[in-house]
Amino acid sequence: MKLTLVCPDCAGRLPVDAAAAPETVRCGGCRREIPLAVSDNVRDDAEVDRCPVCEGSDFYIRKDFDPKLGLAVIVTGALISAGFYWFGMDLIAYGVLGLAALVDLIVYGRLGDLSVCYRCHAEFRGEYRRTAPIFDLHTADELELEWARRIGKR
Ligand SMILES: [Zn+2]
Ligand SMILES: [Zn+2]
Repeated sequence: MKLTLVCPDCAGRLPVDAAAAPETVRCGGCRREIPLAVSDNVRDDAEVDRCPVCEGSDFYIRKDFDPKLGLAVIVTGALISAGFYWFGMDLIAYGVLGLAALVDLIVYGRLGDLSVCYRCHAEFRGEYRRTAPIFDLHTADELELEWARRIGKR
């Protein structure tokens, strides 16, 4: 399982391999030491049961989507489409635009899911069994506030 931890101090993102996770990682941005408590299930890529950073057990699942990639497809489609439109071939122009939107949908649909920790926003990518529910705003508000208090941000 691959972890992407979020530094509590500077919000820097730290990639860590769960199978070879050290006991502490040092943030490359602010040099803060972050202790890790990696559970056996996380280490073995079996299940995300406990977050190694905040030790919480509340996660949600979301699509592993890179917004930049989606935007690139749409922008490229729009540019090509504008070219056809300029030469009076509007039907092809609309076709290209529709195709770009379709490609975007397919890319989005094929992406895997990842689990995210409600409290500290650590991300978990791997072959593990998905058990987390989808995002719930109310839960997120409560747990983020709890974590912010714990790390002294509020
Ligand atoms: Zn940091
Ligand atoms: Zn966490």
